[in-house]
Amino acid sequence: MGIKESMIQLTPSPLVRLFSAPYVAGNSLNAAIEKADRLWQTQQLQTTLDLLGEGIKEREDITHEVDEYLRVIDAIGDKSYITISLKPTQMGLNIDPAFCRDNIARILKRAQTHNIQVTIDMEESDYTESTLVLHRSLREEFDNVGTVLQSRLFRTEEDIHKHLDGLKAHIRLCIGIYNEPANIALQKKPEIKDNLFKLLGILWEKGHFVGIATHDEALLRRCLALAKERNIPKEQYEVQMLLGVPRKAIQQEIVKSGIPVRLYVPYATTWDHALAYLRRRMAENPNMIFYVLGNLWQRMWRWIRPKKPSL
Ligand SMILES: Cc1cc2nc3c(=O)[nH]c(=O)nc-3n(C[C@H](O)[C@H](O)[C@H](O)COP(=O)(O)OP(=O)(O)OC[C@H]3O[C@@H](n4cnc5c(N)ncnc54)[C@H](O)[C@@H]3O)c2cc1C
Repeated sequence: MGIKESMIQLTPSPLVRLFSAPYVAGNSLNAAIEKADRLWQTQQLQTTLDLLGEGIKEREDITHEVDEYLRVIDAIGDKSYITISLKPTQMGLNIDPAFCRDNIARILKRAQTHNIQVTIDMEESDYTESTLVLHRSLREEFDNVGTVLQSRLFRTEEDIHKHLDGLKAHIRLCIGIYNEPANIALQKKPEIKDNLFKLLGILWEKGHFVGIATHDEALLRRCLALAKERNIPKEQYEVQMLLGVPRKAIQQEIVKSGIPVRLYVPYATTWDHALAYLRRRMAENPNMIFYVLGNLWQRMWRWIRPKKPSL
């Protein structure tokens, strides 16, 4: 374990909880639904609910996660502004792909009855191939399933051809949160973002729906300009961001222009799960700590900066 990872593991839980509070809806399904309702009613922001949990190893625990997702679907009901996201390893991909497929199929079947879209998140590159195969196989049976592509991976352009051809797929396009080695992935952010822009063009050309998932305003504006230039219908894309990242102004600007904005809203059934998840995320990508501190500082600055006298 490196120094950064050790520091993250040693950070006291109350501190992790304090820093992470804006990024997690809470420790119950009710809290998550309330959050989603409030975001919709006050800001017309749509949401995707994500039950925190990944890398779960016991079948019994995985079945418990599946049952929780079925409860989530029942709680969402006909609220068309809420979708769900899940992690393949949370459904058992790393212990038995067939078991994982059955689990997600159960969720998709229930979600279909309410017209709820389900996104299979993308995890580390060890799971890219199996996740895309899983997505394709489920897509043969269910039209409410989509997945995620990461622009940092060299393989992604080929994956669009190999794994999505012939589908009108529902794709979230992001840079990818996992640091991947130089033999399989781009290493520089500007290149990764240019690649996202290029991949977006290809996905649209092929007729796929794209959730453009980034908080980088310059990149986002480039993507939206491309949509305009190519006359992409508004039903074929949306913008996605994470709960807690302060982007209210641009979110509202986009919503007002008629393009949907969806926030990714993680919730846990216990704070222990939430804290374990956040520590893992910070360890995978220590930049998160700087993001969190930067965002906190922005909020504080807005609060303490000298106000202009009102006229
Ligand atoms: C809706 C959504 C779903 C995602 N799903 C996946 C997935 O399935 N698989 C996957 O590998 N990755 C996923 N990601 C993460 C994504 O790949 C990036 O790691 C993340 O969005 C940061 O990249 P960026 O494009 O926002 O640009 P960056 O340059 O990394 O970020 C731009 C700015 O946004 C803010 N910011 C970005 N990320 C965070 C954060 N986590 N916390 C606080 N502030 C932040 C910071 O102010 C930063 O300076 C998802 C992202 C979103 C928005």
